[in-house]
Amino acid sequence: MEYNQILEEIQLELTSYKGLGKLPDYIPELAQVDSDKFGCSIVTVEHKKHQIGDVLQKFSIQSISKVFTLAMALSFEGKDLWQRVGVEPSGSAFNSIVQLEYEKGIPRNPFINAGALVIADVLLSRINNPKAKLLEFINMLAGGSHIDINIDVYVSEKNTSAMNTSLAHMLKAYGNINNDINAVLDFYFFQCAIEMSCEELSFALLPFADHTTCFNYAGISLSASRVKRINAIMLTCGFYDESGEFSFKVGLPGKSGVGGGIVAVHPNKYSVAAWSPLLNEKGNSVMGMKALELLTTKTGLSVF
Ligand code: GLU
Repeated sequence: MEYNQILEEIQLELTSYKGLGKLPDYIPELAQVDSDKFGCSIVTVEHKKHQIGDVLQKFSIQSISKVFTLAMALSFEGKDLWQRVGVEPSGSAFNSIVQLEYEKGIPRNPFINAGALVIADVLLSRINNPKAKLLEFINMLAGGSHIDINIDVYVSEKNTSAMNTSLAHMLKAYGNINNDINAVLDFYFFQCAIEMSCEELSFALLPFADHTTCFNYAGISLSASRVKRINAIMLTCGFYDESGEFSFKVGLPGKSGVGGGIVAVHPNKYSVAAWSPLLNEKGNSVMGMKALELLTTKTGLSVF
C-alpha cells in the first residue's frame, strides 16, 4: 500500500478545511495551542512508519488516555469491571450528567467522562502509585521514556473542573466510587494532561492493531480477547455522540480527545494517529476526522 503517497494527497485535500472548528476554551490552557497544526502517523504491523506533518510535536492526549486506563483496569478487575460500567454508546456529550442519574450511577461506557472516573477509581484501589504506573505503561507501549504530563494543562483543568466534579459526586452518591472524590478527580486530570506526539501515539496503539503482540507487562496484560473488546468499545463509543458518524465515515475503531488527537486501528494492518487542534461541535478534531475518512477511502479498506 502506498501510504506515503496517500498521506501527501490527504494533506493537500485538507487545505480547504484549514481554520474550520474551534479550540476547546473550557480548559483554558488548551486554547493556547497553535491551531494551524496537522500531523498524521501510521505504523503498520510490520513496524513500518509513514508520516506527514507535525508528527513529532507533543499535544495533550486528553480522552485518548482512556484507552490506556481501560486496558489497565481490565487487567486488574477482569470481567467484574462490567458490573460498574457498561459497554453501550451513550448518544450523549462526553460530560453529560443526565443519563448517569437515570441509570443510577452506572456510566454507559468507559470512554464518557463518568465511565473514565469509575476506571480511575478502580486503578486507585488496585495500584499503589497509579500515576507512575500509567506513565510507565504508556512509555512501554510507545517504546520510549519521555512521555509525561503537561503541568499547565493539568492545573488548568483542575481549576475549571465543575462538570467533572459534579459527575464524581453523582457517582459517589450511587456508591460507584470507593476512593476519595478529590483523589479520583486528580488522577483523571493527570491522565488527561499526558502529552504525546502522533508518532508516539501510533506506536502505543500498535498492540491494539496486532494480535500477535499481546503482552503481559508488570501485571497489565493485553490478550487477543481484551484487544477485541477494547476495539469494540472504541468502535461504538470512541467519539461520544459522534461515534456513529465516525464508524459510518471512517469504519475503524478509534478514540478522540479534546486536545485534537484521534487514534484508530485497522486490525492486522496498522495503527494511526492524527492531530489537529480545531474541534467540531462534538469535541472531535475537524481535520483529524477528515484525514482518517480520506485514509480509509483512498486505501479502500476498513473493518467493514
Ligand atoms: N479532560 C477532558 C474533560 O474531561 C477530556 C474530554 C475529551 O478529551 O474528550 O473534559
